[in-house]
Amino acid sequence: MKIHQPTRAAGLERLADFTAQAGFNYAHKRNFDYGPEADVEADPWRDNVSRLSPYIRHKLLTEQELIEAVIKVHGSQKADKFITEILWRGYFRGWLEQRPEVWADYVTGRDDALRAMQKLGSQRKIYEQALESRTGIDCFDFWMKELIDTGYLHNHARMWFASIWIFTLKLPWQIGADLFLQHLRDGDAASNVLSWRWVAGLHTKGKSYQATKENIVQFTDGRFTAIGLAQEFVPLVESKSYKFRPLKVPPAPPAAAAFALLVHEEDCHPESLTLPGKPALLIGVSGPDGKSPKGVADPVREFAQGAVTDALTRGSDHFGCESVMWNKGQKLADVMKTAGIERLIVPWLPTGPLKDAIGREVNGCNPRWVMRNYDAAIWPLAKAGFFPVKKKAPDALAPLGILL
Ligand SMILES: Cc1cc2nc3c(=O)[nH]c(=O)nc-3n(C[C@H](O)[C@H](O)[C@H](O)COP(=O)(O)OP(=O)(O)OC[C@H]3O[C@@H](n4cnc5c(N)ncnc54)[C@H](O)[C@@H]3O)c2cc1C
Repeated sequence: MKIHQPTRAAGLERLADFTAQAGFNYAHKRNFDYGPEADVEADPWRDNVSRLSPYIRHKLLTEQELIEAVIKVHGSQKADKFITEILWRGYFRGWLEQRPEVWADYVTGRDDALRAMQKLGSQRKIYEQALESRTGIDCFDFWMKELIDTGYLHNHARMWFASIWIFTLKLPWQIGADLFLQHLRDGDAASNVLSWRWVAGLHTKGKSYQATKENIVQFTDGRFTAIGLAQEFVPLVESKSYKFRPLKVPPAPPAAAAFALLVHEEDCHPESLTLPGKPALLIGVSGPDGKSPKGVADPVREFAQGAVTDALTRGSDHFGCESVMWNKGQKLADVMKTAGIERLIVPWLPTGPLKDAIGREVNGCNPRWVMRNYDAAIWPLAKAGFFPVKKKAPDALAPLGILL
């Protein structure tokens, strides 16, 4: 198995291996974290969850094709749990797109917290112990190592980890979210920051996530004692309430004589975009280090860069056109000028670090934006909580031929 290879082929291979598990097995076993040592093969793949997140996060595989693949094998009822988790991703993405200030405030809060951490003696000691897996809380110390060594944590472990970080160790949630973005191969502005806010009690206001010894022991198959956890989980509060700005879905780009397509790490499947024709040039760009002021771990950088390279190779074959990289220090307008192309089409750049890094320059080239039909169907539904999204998803996705 081509584990962790940042290619669509490796993602499809994993999907083919996992699909049979995506029905009854996933519904009943997905909450168990059996640990990386329980892997079925020499390399870390656990079979009770898909581990497809790095592929989905970079859109090497699209949400639409995943849902279609599991419905084909199990039907929508039996695959409901898996489909629900895919919808959670779209929910968080849509929620953040419609409240981009949450991301901007996270960035400011993270930078303030990191600066303050330099000065705070006792809190810094706890922070250092946490980073070095020396808190004495066996499960937390294990997950810290696992996160750094493998670039992955099971969903339940992420929830427990964040809860222990915030309520037992009393560390700033933004620094925890930053740590995840440095190390997770699937590190994503929306799923990560909003999940941390959810654990803290800021997303569903007044409701925090409580990591308890009993729950950890049960769902890790007794691998840990989980001694030393907080007994109180007072939700964090913030004075600001974020304004909902309804998403404006861009109109389909008009036909153009010749256009370049920007292929960025947020969308690495150019073949399935709805375009007004074949691009004359693909321009690739990635910038994973913008996820954290500390940069990202090598495997995270390699996955993001590799995903863009793979997308360029496949895209060039598919469209029969050349591809170039937009490298650091170059101007995008110059890359286009050199190729003699005036029109630029860009797959939607979602709120997050890549948009922060390149959004202004891309906008300077007067681009036309393309949004995927799936995203345009799901994201606008994220007005408040998840459950209305889940309820409305069947009607929203039916025009795409997805029958939930
Ligand atoms: C504190 C915290 C931080 C997180 N940070 C990230 C992140 O940076 N990037 C990220 O992709 N996910 C994040 N998640 C969500 C979730 O933990 C991962 O998507 C999931 O564990 C990935 O493993 P998998 O592919 O085996 O998941 P599976 O259980 O196989 O799920 C299939 C897919 O559904 C989506 N999904 C599943 N659970 C969730 C969820 N709770 N929220 C959103 N999407 C979900 C993912 O795309 C995942 O690949 C975070 C969760 C928490 C609690």
